[in-house]
Amino acid sequence: MPYISTRGDHNAVNAKTAIKRGTAPDGGLYVDPNISQHQLFAPMMAATSYQAMARIVLAALLPDYTADELSAAVSAAYSNTFDDPAITPVRDVDDLHILELFHGPTSAFKDIGLQLLPHIMAQALNPQEDVLVLAATSGDTGKAALAGFQDVPHTRITTFYPDGGVSPIQERQMLTAGGLNTTVAAIQGNFDDAQTAVKQILNDRQLAATLRQSDSSVTAANSINVGRLIPQVVYYFAAYRQLVDRDAIRAGELINFTVPTGNFGDVLAGYYAKMMGLPVAKFVVATNANSVVADFLQTGRYDRNRPFLKTVAPSMDIQVSSNLERLLYYKSGGDTDLVTRLMANLDRDGAYTVSPELLASLQNDFVAASADDEAVEDAIRDAYQQHGYLMDPHTAAGYAAQQSLAGNLSGVTVLLSTASPYKFPRAVAAAVAPELHGDDFDLMRQLAAKTGVPNPNNLGHLDRLPARVPVRLTPDAMPAFVEQQALQNKHQSQEVGL
Ligand SMILES: *Cc1c(COP(=O)(O)O)cnc(C)c1O
Repeated sequence: MPYISTRGDHNAVNAKTAIKRGTAPDGGLYVDPNISQHQLFAPMMAATSYQAMARIVLAALLPDYTADELSAAVSAAYSNTFDDPAITPVRDVDDLHILELFHGPTSAFKDIGLQLLPHIMAQALNPQEDVLVLAATSGDTGKAALAGFQDVPHTRITTFYPDGGVSPIQERQMLTAGGLNTTVAAIQGNFDDAQTAVKQILNDRQLAATLRQSDSSVTAANSINVGRLIPQVVYYFAAYRQLVDRDAIRAGELINFTVPTGNFGDVLAGYYAKMMGLPVAKFVVATNANSVVADFLQTGRYDRNRPFLKTVAPSMDIQVSSNLERLLYYKSGGDTDLVTRLMANLDRDGAYTVSPELLASLQNDFVAASADDEAVEDAIRDAYQQHGYLMDPHTAAGYAAQQSLAGNLSGVTVLLSTASPYKFPRAVAAAVAPELHGDDFDLMRQLAAKTGVPNPNNLGHLDRLPARVPVRLTPDAMPAFVEQQALQNKHQSQEVGL
């Protein structure tokens, strides 16, 4: 039973339960206290494919799944669903090493977790059990979750995005989702409002009891769910392995990773890889102008009492980085009382401060910088003009942060590219081709023609697909909506005999 809550409910659960629940009943997040007992560096360096690496990581962290279950899930998730055989290829461009995480079906890194999660979720359900999967999204999780869960038996997926807070392409991706079990809702609020409401719904005991009577439950597809986070550990090892194979580094050499950050899931997966033996010196945590996390890692004070900004990198427009809770758990040596106190302060005051010792320990592994919209635009332009590489605004925030912190880094640094530039053609065109005009779909095609960098197939025809109208909700209306959806889900799966 490897999983316990960051907030001290020590009733350990197995991985299937943790994945099915999404969050722990006391409101905390599930963690494996003994994660560093799994030292995977040697087997990962001997593995022969991305899929083999994924099986190794999953077998270590999801021990109650059978090898057959994990193999089936990995084969289904990482096959021709990705348009590159390496799944997460590292491109060497001059002195840059760019880990491209956007080769999946929705062109953002969320596919790595969300192509796999539906399979391990379905395997965790008892016969006759149904689950309603909720996804709060800052833009990319939504479509990736819809694509992953579409028509998966016994599941229904509902995604909540901030109305007016995602790019037009991201919105169109969600509104053109197929599947009879998919729902898209636009929330009058920002990502934090949506994620907070999802967490409250997961902790609503009365709702859980009502649903249990009809053998249903709710869970989350956000990186608060370990099932979403764990698949992301794999690509840190896979990137390292590619650099070793091409003699860019020696096996065992320390390297750095730059990670464009919002909810802190991606970079936390990197830290998990480090705890499991990957030789990493520093993680560069890059934020956009919503710099709460970067400021925290610089000062030790987490403070969200400031305006929520809409930036050109909308998938990082987040002020409450949920997965930081897991990092605080590990960095405090498993001090669940401390984590509970800090999270209560965050709830009450929107702020907390950690001790100088804890800050020093965080800074051993993490350095941080933020990039405002102007810096992001400059970075897109610079990467294109200096290196001929077209990057999206989130990746560009990473590029800017990496350059500003170069003096603090030694050795090779890998920059994680989290989305295709064509999900954000307006920001990219403003930086590299300001003479282009039109709506986002026109800009995408013109940019592709001008730069010669092809746009992904899944984005090219979006504007010609029929789109649905989103359900419009306030965050307050989410719980009632969810209850109705969950009960309807049960009803439907009985009717069609799924
Ligand atoms: C979600 C997302 C991020 C932030 O990742 P977190 O795991 O939330 O820190 C960065 N870039 C893009 C393109 C994203 O979709």
